Amino acid sequence: MPTTVNAYAAKEVSRPLEPFNFQRRDTGPNDIKIDILFCGVCHSDLHQVRDEWGGSIFPMVPGHEIVGRILQVGDKVTNFQVGELAGIGCFVDSCRSCPSCQAGEEQYCEKGMTGTYNSYERGTKNPTYGGYSTQIVVDEKYALHISDKLPLERVAPLLCAGITTYSPLRHWNVGNGQKVGIVGLGGLGHMGVKFAASFGAEVTVLSTSPSKENDALELGAHHFAVTKDREQMKKLRGEFDFILNTISAQHDYNDYLQLLKTNGTMVVVGIPPTPSTVMAGIVIGNRRSLAGSMIGGIRETQEMLTYCAEHNITSDVEVIDISNINTAYERMLKNDVRYRFVIDIASLKK
Ligand code: NAP
Ligand code: ZN
Ligand code: ZN
Repeated sequence: MPTTVNAYAAKEVSRPLEPFNFQRRDTGPNDIKIDILFCGVCHSDLHQVRDEWGGSIFPMVPGHEIVGRILQVGDKVTNFQVGELAGIGCFVDSCRSCPSCQAGEEQYCEKGMTGTYNSYERGTKNPTYGGYSTQIVVDEKYALHISDKLPLERVAPLLCAGITTYSPLRHWNVGNGQKVGIVGLGGLGHMGVKFAASFGAEVTVLSTSPSKENDALELGAHHFAVTKDREQMKKLRGEFDFILNTISAQHDYNDYLQLLKTNGTMVVVGIPPTPSTVMAGIVIGNRRSLAGSMIGGIRETQEMLTYCAEHNITSDVEVIDISNINTAYERMLKNDVRYRFVIDIASLKK
């Protein structure tokens, strides 16, 4: 039987989130049903609630950094058992047959991945609803195993902020002997610092917030620069082999591309709602590259979770009750998050 679950939703574009009920589908033969314990708050939740990328579906229950415990498994489930921990990231399905899906990079599914929320279940008009809710049902192929050795509230953000930074750092072979800039010290940025430092790179945080300097160094960065300070930025020209740009708002890519060495690459993961113009001379002059990267596939997300369990890497979090979600969004817009809000879903079960 479908189950009615408690949630928080934006009922219309840009409306504050408020209590909402909806039905989760019955647990099918390949599905697992998860009792959600924690859900991280990603800036993408805010972009989509405000329909900044277009095409948002309302009512919207955001949340794609989900960890919880398995309540039920379908007859054909082989990889998960009742009582185990499980996680869900940014997608819950894909076509399963295109070259990207076959390669384990479901996030680049040629027919489009099915988002954990703000999407439709494949072949239907049933909206998907995310992790700001008490339970979720998902095909086991799109669920992750979660270690019981790490604090769960600190693990939840790995499902998006973690994999989104781990994947490009791995893809571009970032490591020993390289100078890396992490631009924007928020949810993604602070995970980027931890991974880049852990892979052996010399890490500089490039931030608009001078007050984050001590935190940056504690997170593992070796240097800190304030991007509003023109002199500091000038000194860093030609400095980096690799830059990971996590900025969520309008900015000028050229300011950061100039900081790359010859052959350096800037990978953009932040998704501002408006375009940025690139000066051809800045990429041509030093054969620089501008690239992008989106989350990671299931296989790589599992690899990242294992890496984190082995190296004791988790997110720095501020745990909130669901009733504080709108304040958390306001604070995120002011760059006042240290460094990920995570909802204690127990606050939805009262
Ligand atoms: P967040 O926690 O709000 O962090 C963003 C940081 O960017 C801020 O803390 C701030 O850092 C910096 N920033 C904000 N506005 C800025 C501005 N106008 N100019 C310069 N810097 C600014 O957000 P998040 O959750 O890390 O997400 C970051 C972006 O990545 C969002 O756009 C999100 O949608 C996107 N995202 C993409 C993927 C993907 O697969 N590619 C996955 C998840 C999220 P400082 O205070 O240090 O300057
Ligand atoms: Zn996200
Ligand atoms: Zn596909």
